[in-house]
Amino acid sequence: MSKISLVIHGGARKDSEFIREYRDDYKAALTEVSQLTYAILKKGKHALDAVEAAVVYMEDHILFNAGRGSAINSVGETEMEAAIMEGKELRSGAVTLLKKVKNPVSLARHILEDSKHILLGAEGALEYAKYKKVQLEYDSYFITPHQYDVFMEERDSKTEKEKENILNHGTVGAVAFDSKGNIAAATSTGGLAFNRKGRVGDACMIGIGCYANNKTCGVCSTGDGEINIRNTSAAYISMLLEHTSLSIQEACNYLIHSRNKDTTSDMGLIAIDKSGNIGISYNTELMHRAWISSERGLQVKIYEP
Ligand code: ASP
Repeated sequence: MSKISLVIHGGARKDSEFIREYRDDYKAALTEVSQLTYAILKKGKHALDAVEAAVVYMEDHILFNAGRGSAINSVGETEMEAAIMEGKELRSGAVTLLKKVKNPVSLARHILEDSKHILLGAEGALEYAKYKKVQLEYDSYFITPHQYDVFMEERDSKTEKEKENILNHGTVGAVAFDSKGNIAAATSTGGLAFNRKGRVGDACMIGIGCYANNKTCGVCSTGDGEINIRNTSAAYISMLLEHTSLSIQEACNYLIHSRNKDTTSDMGLIAIDKSGNIGISYNTELMHRAWISSERGLQVKIYEP
């Protein structure tokens, strides 16, 4: 069998009571989504199908900050974003400031397949969703009891400035390498708790939150979106592979632990290089992550290095 590999993540962030309480459920979800997605790759399907399926699973799952379970913004709403890219022709699709669409990553896939544009936002993205007849949900569908509690706890007890600094966030992402050597990457997020209405993060930005290029690698970034934007994180890893002899793991470590060694912002990366090797790096207390390849069985980790 030709080599295949998959790496997924459900966010890199500070520890919390909620994550400790649901640690086993997180692990079970990461295990199930990895197995389902790996089975798609094993059937010989395209890496794009695998990463879309992985992200849809996590958007539907209430534990992850994407789709249902999105963080609530400063005015009590959810605004979502997602991106997807394939590495052969560099086709890409992305959405931002999105409401009502059950699976933002699937709308991004429609854009990748059918649109000459790459990134659609807000009402225009919703209009495109209706045109494509993707599944819509009421606004209340996206708000889970946990995100509601986080919002209510902090809403009245913190100043506006303090709210801006709450680092309660998460993103989901997947990178896959299929049996034909194609790489694809996909990301989706509800952003940061209390972020200003209209704030656009890194997850929808091709070359920052999401990038795939069969000649170098596929990458998803996570953490504090603004630091990834400042570093053009995903493209930076691709350039390191193109212009240096660093391995994929060394490149991810370099960006986070050398270039940004003094940052106080959260950063996380998952990546796969053009030979199917996997890299994962983060500077946070935990990263929900799982990886598997035809060379090595499934690994699922949250706290463990
Ligand atoms: N990067 C995401 C954002 O800033 C959040 C995360 O990945 O945890 O919207």
